[in-house]
Amino acid sequence: LWLWCCTAMAKAEYVKYKDPKQPVAVRVKDLLSRMTLEEKVGQMVQIDRIVATADIMKTYSIGSLLSGGGSTPHPQATAEDWVNMVNEFQNGSLSSRLGIPMIYGIDAVHGHNNVYNATIFPHNIGLGATRDPQLVKRIGAATALEVRATGIPYVFAPCIAVCRDPRWGRCYESYSEDHKIVQEMTEIILGLQGDIPANSRKGVPYVGGKNKVAACAKHFVGDGGTTNGINENNTVIDMHGLLSIHMPAYSDSIIKGVSTIMVSYSSLNGEKMHANHSLITGFLKGTLKFKGFVISDWEGIDRITSPPHSNYSYSVQAGIQAGIDMVMLPFNFTEFIDDLTYLVKNNIIPMDRIDDAVARILFVKFNMGLFENPLSDLSLVNQLGNQAHRDLAREAVRKSLVLLKNGKIANDSLLPLSKKASKILVAGSHADNLGYQCGGWTITWQGFSGNNYTRGTTILSAITSTVDPKTEVVYRENPDGDFVKSSKFDYAIVVVGEHPYTESAGDSLNLTMADPGPYVISNVCGAVKCIVVVISGRPIVIEPYVSLIDALVAAWLPGTEGQGVTDALFGDYGFSGKLPRTWFRTVDQLPMNVGDSHYDPLFPFGYGITTESVPSLVSRSTSAGVDGRPYILIFMVSLFISLYFTGEF
Ligand code: BGC
Repeated sequence: LWLWCCTAMAKAEYVKYKDPKQPVAVRVKDLLSRMTLEEKVGQMVQIDRIVATADIMKTYSIGSLLSGGGSTPHPQATAEDWVNMVNEFQNGSLSSRLGIPMIYGIDAVHGHNNVYNATIFPHNIGLGATRDPQLVKRIGAATALEVRATGIPYVFAPCIAVCRDPRWGRCYESYSEDHKIVQEMTEIILGLQGDIPANSRKGVPYVGGKNKVAACAKHFVGDGGTTNGINENNTVIDMHGLLSIHMPAYSDSIIKGVSTIMVSYSSLNGEKMHANHSLITGFLKGTLKFKGFVISDWEGIDRITSPPHSNYSYSVQAGIQAGIDMVMLPFNFTEFIDDLTYLVKNNIIPMDRIDDAVARILFVKFNMGLFENPLSDLSLVNQLGNQAHRDLAREAVRKSLVLLKNGKIANDSLLPLSKKASKILVAGSHADNLGYQCGGWTITWQGFSGNNYTRGTTILSAITSTVDPKTEVVYRENPDGDFVKSSKFDYAIVVVGEHPYTESAGDSLNLTMADPGPYVISNVCGAVKCIVVVISGRPIVIEPYVSLIDALVAAWLPGTEGQGVTDALFGDYGFSGKLPRTWFRTVDQLPMNVGDSHYDPLFPFGYGITTESVPSLVSRSTSAGVDGRPYILIFMVSLFISLYFTGEF
């Protein structure tokens, strides 16, 4: 009897889904069989942390949280503050009936860009210019570590849009106009989630350990192909075009084990992607055999009906039936819960569809070890913004630079710039502005202006620390032409471009340079030899100024490590970047992509002058001693010679 009792008790206590030795599929099935409809619906819900409390997480069994637009606990929140905040919500989830952990997601789209003091990498357009998928994979790994340092296990990245029109405000989130480059850059997924040997990549979502995060390929599909580049608009394309341009990066992402895929706000030939059953369920989950979960975009299902939210119950039905598994609501969650519960109870949405959605969500959570390690400790907090990551970002910046012009005439190149000039001018609104360097999706949703919001090195301060201490560096944002003429500068570095923007705020029909950029170029470049560095999320109108300029560099949106720019300007490293997109002459040529019959660019896709590095004797820009060594050697030799001749030796 005693033995029978013990065995019975052990059996009663054994909960299969809690046993890490059980295969994930078995755990999912077991847990699913224990869940009520309300608990299942709760798992499909993602809400913004602003409306969440630990109690709400518990009561509704909410499946996921997000920091929408990067919302932070407070502007200078430390990694520790983030960990504590995420853990508090997680404790709420863990105290729910079945103790299912929630998954917290954030837009870490160029490093952990919402967080004060994180390393901010170049935006994707710059990474496309590097043509270096392995570098991008290392950036993925660094980003994962910084995100995990703050207790967050999920990022809404990478954006694998193929931007076909630079008038689109999200063009900088796209690696290239060429789908092959975008496909190659899906290598970032292996950096974010962890590597799996090529022969075992079978498309099963994979996240390898506590230093890794679940990734999200977005926005499915055709987001970069909307007419005139209007954000969230309609993409008109035939099946062949869709499959050959916008789809290949999704199959690559799935093969590489991406855990989640986000649906696009845009429509495809007039049909909202959020309601597109044949592409989400038929193609993505069916043909491409995607096994992770599909997430909506922010209020994405609200827009299925027009005007948004006009018939919410219908929107819920259409979105879930199309195959969306998790819904980024992200505020008004009770209405969604009520509507979806009603639709299932009344057999309008079959329970099978709900079970499929929840099984996928649970699969990702089990698979990434969230049930075993739902809470974060503080062991990684020092990884945020660490020097190795900053060095990596600096490397990425210099490799992303595209040299478009070097000299007005042959053999007249201004580059590399001399570190030993006696007096140089730095001009333009973008020379000393970390916010402009970083662009949108940095600290706040729309980015910031100035140098006070996070840490990093502006191009001006990188210049100052690179040139000889005796060189006089004069900075004027918008100098007067006479001042420039009379000041006897050896040369000028002009840094101009676009102001930060995100999503629709960046849609532009004229693609002009922000003021006073054009004036600065005319005032300065008319008076002294000048190099112009353009900080922008895409090609902008530059043709009218090119003849005035001696050297021209596209630096995209480089992020916090401005020394990457000076590394190349002063010749410590050569220029190697290649245009990831076509540089147009005038906006009325748009859209214009490589391969088009009317192709007449200012600089073609793939263009970029390469230069060799010029090792210099005096360099204060590199931290390693390599550049300093010859200098010390020369100093020692001359000391020896002088002492020898003065008879002191
Ligand atoms: C964007 C997504 C982003 C989401 C969450 C949406 O507006 O389209 O790319 O992941 O917000 O912040």
